[in-house]
Amino acid sequence: MIVEMVIVGPFQENCYVIGDEDSGTGALIDPGEEAPRVALTVERMGLSISQIIVTHAHIDHVGAIAPLTDEFLCPVLMHEEAEAMLQTAPQQAMMMGMRFGKVPKVDRRIADDEVLEVGNLRLRSLYTPGHAPGHLAFYAEEQEVVFSGDALFAGSVGRTDLPGGSMEVLMNSISERLLTLPDATRVLSGHGPETTIGRERMTNPFLGGGAL
Ligand SMILES: [Zn+2]
Ligand SMILES: [Zn+2]
Repeated sequence: MIVEMVIVGPFQENCYVIGDEDSGTGALIDPGEEAPRVALTVERMGLSISQIIVTHAHIDHVGAIAPLTDEFLCPVLMHEEAEAMLQTAPQQAMMMGMRFGKVPKVDRRIADDEVLEVGNLRLRSLYTPGHAPGHLAFYAEEQEVVFSGDALFAGSVGRTDLPGGSMEVLMNSISERLLTLPDATRVLSGHGPETTIGRERMTNPFLGGGAL
């Protein structure tokens, strides 16, 4: 699996361009802003984008989907519980003095524990709500990588003060679905640097670091 991170927009969101080297098939995870830079990365990597996969519908993760679907003519996939929030993206943006533009159409709904194929790559969806409704993480078991969205960060966890957030639900998602992954699993999150499940289990202050 080839992966490139593109940090986009005023919220410094991590968009991931992933690809299967054998087939040249790729996917975008959370293209939040700056569609031209994301598209340029895709071109440089020589990938044919088969789908856009969304962890959750906060504006910083979905802002570039519409222009990129125009560009790549590919389906958009997210959990159905995230769709209501997607529809409010223009209002979310306006409250922050920003303009959202076109709300993208969702082509396919992803359930929990579903396997998405990107060429020969396999990504398993992990239902991890608490930060936002219908939040999903995506786990590539063979490559030992999890795309954790805004559920888990290096040294932190997602905020839970936005609509549909719950600290109790988030902590449950993290302990049941993410910390149960092998320690060596690389964590590529929605903001900030890369980490591993083992490092977060040991040191993340929100997870009772050091107690285990
Ligand atoms: Zn978020
Ligand atoms: Zn975010």
